[in-house]
Amino acid sequence: MPNAALQQPAGDNPHVTLITPSSPMATPTHGGRAKCLQRLVRLDLPVPRTVALSFDTVHEIAGGALPDIANVIAQFDEGALLCVRPSSEDPDWGGPGAILNIGMNDARYVDLSERIGREFAAVLYLRFVQAYAVHVARLDPDTFDEIEDMGPGGLSAALAAYEEEAEEPFPQDPVEQLSAVLTCMARAWEGTTARLLRQAKGAPMDAGLGLVVQEMALGIGAGECGSGVLQLVDPDTGLRQITGRYLSQSQGREALEMDFASLFLTRDPRGPSLEDQAPEAFKALIENAELMRQRLREEMQIEFTIENGALHILDGIRVPRSSRAAVRIAVRLAEDGIISHEEALLRIEPRAISELLHRQIAPGAHRDVIGSGVAASPGAATGKIVFSSAEAQASAARGEHCVLIRRETSPEDIRGMHAAVAVVTERGGITSHAAVIGRGLGLPCVVGAANMKFDLRKRKITTADGRSFAHGEEITVDGTSGQVLAGAALTVEAALDDAFQTLMGWADKARDIAIRANVDTPADAATAQNFKAEGIGLCRTEHMFFEADRLTPMREMIFADGSEDRMAALAVLLPMQRADFTALFSIMEGLPVCIRLFDPPLHEFLPSDRAGLRDLAEALDLPISDVTERVEALGEYNPMLGMRGVRLGITVPEIYDMQARAIFEATLDASRAGAPPVVPEIMLPLVSAKREVEILRTRIDAVASAVKAERGRDFTYRLGVMVETPRACLRADDIAQHAQFLSFGTNDLTQMAYGLSRDDAGRFMSDYVQQEVFLEDPFHILDIEGVGELVAIGAERGRQGRPDVLLSICGEHGGDPDSIAFCRAVGMNHVSCSPFRVPIARLAAAQLAIRETIGSQ
Ligand code: PEP
Ligand code: MG
Repeated sequence: MPNAALQQPAGDNPHVTLITPSSPMATPTHGGRAKCLQRLVRLDLPVPRTVALSFDTVHEIAGGALPDIANVIAQFDEGALLCVRPSSEDPDWGGPGAILNIGMNDARYVDLSERIGREFAAVLYLRFVQAYAVHVARLDPDTFDEIEDMGPGGLSAALAAYEEEAEEPFPQDPVEQLSAVLTCMARAWEGTTARLLRQAKGAPMDAGLGLVVQEMALGIGAGECGSGVLQLVDPDTGLRQITGRYLSQSQGREALEMDFASLFLTRDPRGPSLEDQAPEAFKALIENAELMRQRLREEMQIEFTIENGALHILDGIRVPRSSRAAVRIAVRLAEDGIISHEEALLRIEPRAISELLHRQIAPGAHRDVIGSGVAASPGAATGKIVFSSAEAQASAARGEHCVLIRRETSPEDIRGMHAAVAVVTERGGITSHAAVIGRGLGLPCVVGAANMKFDLRKRKITTADGRSFAHGEEITVDGTSGQVLAGAALTVEAALDDAFQTLMGWADKARDIAIRANVDTPADAATAQNFKAEGIGLCRTEHMFFEADRLTPMREMIFADGSEDRMAALAVLLPMQRADFTALFSIMEGLPVCIRLFDPPLHEFLPSDRAGLRDLAEALDLPISDVTERVEALGEYNPMLGMRGVRLGITVPEIYDMQARAIFEATLDASRAGAPPVVPEIMLPLVSAKREVEILRTRIDAVASAVKAERGRDFTYRLGVMVETPRACLRADDIAQHAQFLSFGTNDLTQMAYGLSRDDAGRFMSDYVQQEVFLEDPFHILDIEGVGELVAIGAERGRQGRPDVLLSICGEHGGDPDSIAFCRAVGMNHVSCSPFRVPIARLAAAQLAIRETIGSQ
């Protein structure tokens, strides 16, 4: 019998306490396992007696100050065997392994032999000797290599080996045994390796460890004995299905290790099952699992032992789960009325949603990593290496999957990117061309993979360890982790199932900031619609000019001698642009579409190599020297800070005139025959002065009036400004007087605020982040302190200039949960991000609104 006097009333000693329904116990002081065991005790489940030691006590034990261990042992039945298990605040932070069968000694061996037989008693004793020797006395595991017999013979040999190696007999006193086990587990937690490991998983420096001392239910002995784990869902899919393992004559988590020998849980034609073997215990197990689901409001994995047909529940942990299963589990719990919709939404990590939208490397699949870089666009794909866009297109035409490898991509590579299944670049960062386009297309992409050597002439890449991969060889790109792998890795499909759609529906009801998508093509627009974006927040029109049939008139336009020639070339492009916009408006069915006028420097459209120059000379019927000279003349030292954006609009106004006309004509075309009316939004890039907007507004108004007069129909449109230079933020009040909306382009704004080229940042960003110069890549996670201050100033001054001005963000940060929190806080009306990030943004925005409501209650 346990010593009744020691069953202290709750509150007496919260640091060493028997777990009862009312003992003082909390996850931050005793760890998650102890707290969960108390919940199970409160549910009156068959949990063996357990004593919990608090974080403070365990810390003292590590320093050599033990509590009264005899008193701990006195809490249990006389002669009971005990086990000690870790109880950290978050189970993911790990902890030392459990030690079982503490208290086993020669005397108990004799007693137990009578009760369950000598063979079984010997197994228990032998296991304890081995675990104690290796983990507590720190003897070499080889000490027991020779021992194969798990019965009494093996036990004698193990005790003898222990004595010889440790130079003392195996300790017989349970107090000494338990003291040593507790000390070694407490010290293991405080060791540097363990601390670094858990810090890597997000644990704070001073994370504490609790320990639980539990009476053993013997999974070894007469009758049906064994141990296992069971859960009511499949951890990969989240579908309702009893899964787990049970192994007769086993202890702890052996059933998980000895897969081959385990029994089925439910009745199964393929072999014996727990349900057959111990029907009563099985029934109780399922009932208890259902009860735990209901009352702990979570899908739990039960760790259980069956001792001579009787069920004991040793522990419950949250079922480990894939992202896909997490969504289904949360939705099912809410649909069953166990948790609210809001709680279901809060249980899903928004960034994990991205795993559902793309094919991924299968969990646990073998990874032969040959290089790595910035994880620029998530998802995984396998294909043969190609080194040019032309090869990529040829490969796609043959029906072969290919991975496009480039030093960096430029707009000329767009068609190659469309043809490839993944892209890897040597240079670049999270907002470089390949990254932005990759995310838009949902194409796995790794950029800045500088740890591989790119030899484009010899058409091979060489890895840091000297392996070479040539053109045509198969590799796999994992854009989620930023790794490049040799060969074809095992992958799993995207999972946009009904549970995902339901969760997203709940998110839309909860959130209070609109989410739009950055879309360049009709195909992107369809993806955006599919992910329920509420409009297009940014259409980068320059991407439309790279189609083969457009590049030549575009180049003719660039080479034109005067306004008339330029307009003639633009007249060829006008119907194409009109068709582009009509398609976008039609797909978006009346939702807002924001079109940004032409942004990049013109020379990006010109060829850079000799063959390209020759082709262009031929097409323009000019000597190659003229063409070369002209191309050189258009070159700039700093093109990203040169003749681009609105500066082109002012100096070469015909381009914007053509685009405005195409937008207005498409507005009328798409609004025909009962289709929802379109109110286009036109956005001017790279503005830094009010006068730029004033001049262009006058021109665009004139185009609108001309189209209205020609067509005899009316329409409205909104003109806005992309705020992406620091000066535009500072002068937002007077700029807003001419702009109905301001959209913050945080890619360029970050580049200019830091004076850091977005295309070159990848070279040193990982060093900077590793050395904590920057806590995060500012092109990835908005730098709230610096760039954010510029945005906040811009938003505030913009509203001063025009109180009803619409505010938004369209840089890559629009899809990042932390950045969305900031945008919401400064009062933006919407965020706009790549189509594949729209669901992440919808969920993140919902969580922010829910947390705010909870906080204000
Ligand atoms: C930006 O600069 O934030 C932006 C959205 O435009 P782009 O990436 O096309 O320069
Ligand atoms: Mg920009």
